Amino acid sequence: MAFNHGKAYHGSEAVEGGKLRGKTGRTDYFFFLCPQCVDDQILRILDYEFREPAAPVNRQETKSPAKYFDLAFHLYCPNCQFEDFAKIDNNHKAGLLNPK
Ligand SMILES: [Zn+2]
Repeated sequence: MAFNHGKAYHGSEAVEGGKLRGKTGRTDYFFFLCPQCVDDQILRILDYEFREPAAPVNRQETKSPAKYFDLAFHLYCPNCQFEDFAKIDNNHKAGLLNPK
């Protein structure tokens, strides 16, 4: 089954601008937290997709990634039924609110 049934997708304003947060649990696994629930409700990941990484950004840093990746996640809150999309990569230029 194609990710999002092959349809275009993009995270909404509900996850942009620092509103989507997360943390590790008891172990080293990382969880996204629902931006609408108040009690650190963990989001489920309904699906994911490997995307083609963009051309590597040339940074003046001591080390650089050995491999590049770009992953998209379809997120879902079982408590409030929130659904959205978020992505993680290791190359993004504007990923932070105040990129250096
Ligand atoms: Zn929720």
